[in-house]
Amino acid sequence: MVDIAANLIAIEENIADAARSAGRNLETVTLVAVGKAHPGELSRVALAAGHTVFGENRVQEAETKWPTLKAAYPDAQLHLIGPLQTNKVRHAVALFDVIETVDRPKLAAALAKEMARLDNCSEKRIECFVQINTGAEPQKAGVMLEDADAFIESCCNDHGLWVTGLMCIPPAGEEPSLHFALLRKIAERHGLKKLSMGMSADYEIAIAFGATHVRVGSAIFGDRPPR
Ligand SMILES: *Cc1c(COP(=O)(O)O)cnc(C)c1O
Repeated sequence: MVDIAANLIAIEENIADAARSAGRNLETVTLVAVGKAHPGELSRVALAAGHTVFGENRVQEAETKWPTLKAAYPDAQLHLIGPLQTNKVRHAVALFDVIETVDRPKLAAALAKEMARLDNCSEKRIECFVQINTGAEPQKAGVMLEDADAFIESCCNDHGLWVTGLMCIPPAGEEPSLHFALLRKIAERHGLKKLSMGMSADYEIAIAFGATHVRVGSAIFGDRPPR
């Protein structure tokens, strides 16, 4: 059996150590617990242990798990960390608190339109991160490096999105620190404070490079069952 509560404690300790070594305040690092592909009951165990910030990579899957979990734990915060199709924007905005994967003009426009619609009737404001394809991988989501500056500006200035940070997923098998350093540099150029980078295998390195959000799945919940 995977001991989720014990894993959370161990990872929070590693995060504290990494923050301390980097001379950073522990408060500046948030652990995003990624429960994707696992049943909602596993996230519930983490919630019961006091964890509040979670990530899911599919809107539809999150919709099967999170309405009941959020009802039981109203302080829970949900981050979308997977690609978002424009036809799912309404559902995503209704359920998620942070969308980490804004990566193309059509999506930025659809998000802006949905948020304008909501402005008329609710207070909910969705925080957005722009996903950067730092490894220029054709199969991966994220805006390409050469388009990143203009896209970030356009999200804020043309679409009025509340962009607070950047997110990246370095190519598998490559040294991640170059990608982390690059993401940080782009964020600094735009005065963005939040950096979502680092997963189970490399979150401590990411913290050394300034990660404010580390997205950790298997180290908390165990190996994912096949889809
Ligand atoms: C699955 C996933 C994670 C978590 O991966 P682990 O290696 O299990 O920690 C982090 N970020 C994204 C975008 C993911 O899809």
